[in-house]
Amino acid sequence: MRTITSCFLRKLLSPKQSFRLQGLSLRHISTTVREHDQMLLIKEHPQQSAKAMQFPGIWLRDNCQCEQCFHRDSLSRKPNSWTNFDTKVKVQNVTVDESRQAVNIVWSDRHRSTFSLSWLKERDFSSEARERYMNEWYRPQSKHWGKADFDKILKKFDYWDVMRSDPVLMEWLEALMIHGVAMLKNSPLDIGVVKSLANRIGFIRKTTYGEEFSVRFRPDAKNYSYLSEPLPLHTDLPYYEYKPSVTFLHTLEQSRSKGGWNTIVDGFNIADQLRVHQPQHFKSLSEVRVNWCDIGEDADKAFHNMWRAPVINLDENGKYARINHSVPQRDSHFSIDVDKVTPWYEANAIFVRMAHEQEVTFKTEPGDVLSFNNLRMLHGRTGYDDSERNVRHIVGGFVDWDIVYSKMRVLKRAALAGRVENVAIHA
Ligand SMILES: [Zn+2]
Repeated sequence: MRTITSCFLRKLLSPKQSFRLQGLSLRHISTTVREHDQMLLIKEHPQQSAKAMQFPGIWLRDNCQCEQCFHRDSLSRKPNSWTNFDTKVKVQNVTVDESRQAVNIVWSDRHRSTFSLSWLKERDFSSEARERYMNEWYRPQSKHWGKADFDKILKKFDYWDVMRSDPVLMEWLEALMIHGVAMLKNSPLDIGVVKSLANRIGFIRKTTYGEEFSVRFRPDAKNYSYLSEPLPLHTDLPYYEYKPSVTFLHTLEQSRSKGGWNTIVDGFNIADQLRVHQPQHFKSLSEVRVNWCDIGEDADKAFHNMWRAPVINLDENGKYARINHSVPQRDSHFSIDVDKVTPWYEANAIFVRMAHEQEVTFKTEPGDVLSFNNLRMLHGRTGYDDSERNVRHIVGGFVDWDIVYSKMRVLKRAALAGRVENVAIHA
């Protein structure tokens, strides 16, 4: 069931990696301090032609690694290092210790710092080095996909491989980060699967609807998911400021009727299309804040959830942060200037039409766990006919991205230290 290991993971898990990290070969280092802006320029030879690495003096002083400034056990700066922090501090003297491959600095306040070349190189300010760090340690770049790509991008993993093997767990999480969707197969037909997966990563995210929620036909349903009618494309819980970010849907029983198909579409890809082909509608959907709302009661707890946010949420760099869409959970209160209302409806209708054109359909089998990025994917299901002996039963649950990214980084650090292994099952 295991799919091809991605390029980054393969590199990370290859035995060469730990060999490469064991020691930098000794290099000749030259340093210069640019007086006017206190920039330390470091060059390694024999790479004479390479550009010098640049490190601002104030940043070096702030990140001094000595015992007085840095707490090694917590890997963090000591708080009192800022009690009398002088932004005018200057580099007084720099020397190179080639045998230790380190740079020593004496500061104008007489403090002394030592930085190893490897530590500095990992923190190089060049745009290439920053991008590499962001991709490998912050968040990998997502790849957006359309209907025609679905079979290629959908990775499938065996549930027990994910539970037992750290490298497979990493591949699954990476697939979720990059393509926003992945499928687990052959899980037990057990109500605790979603919780076990969440515990394997970190912990489950509780919401208004509890930790795990059962999606099955309930004649007295108070939420649209609990009816057997078609459930059009939507994102879950758009009415939360901190929207649960990764959804797991575990199929315990599947309807044998013709319906009950899953539908899914990459919301970031729809936003890409809109951005290029209908920029005025893109502007409206990324700027106009919609009132998302859910009022009701679950497990005897009443709730009244509200959050105002656009359909397409952008970060400060214009990248997608989150997609919101849910017809039932869009409030009739629309707290925006009245002249923006009609254009917003036109834009939203086009977004929904484009999403339906790109939606893929498939029917999960008992034991499948469909996992996807709830900040990105729109999902739904076709209607189905249940009888007493023909019941569709899905158990859902959420894990937050913070927890997923954290686990991924922990696994990467362990892999770099040569400690990735098959592990005992987390129940
Ligand atoms: Zn220090």
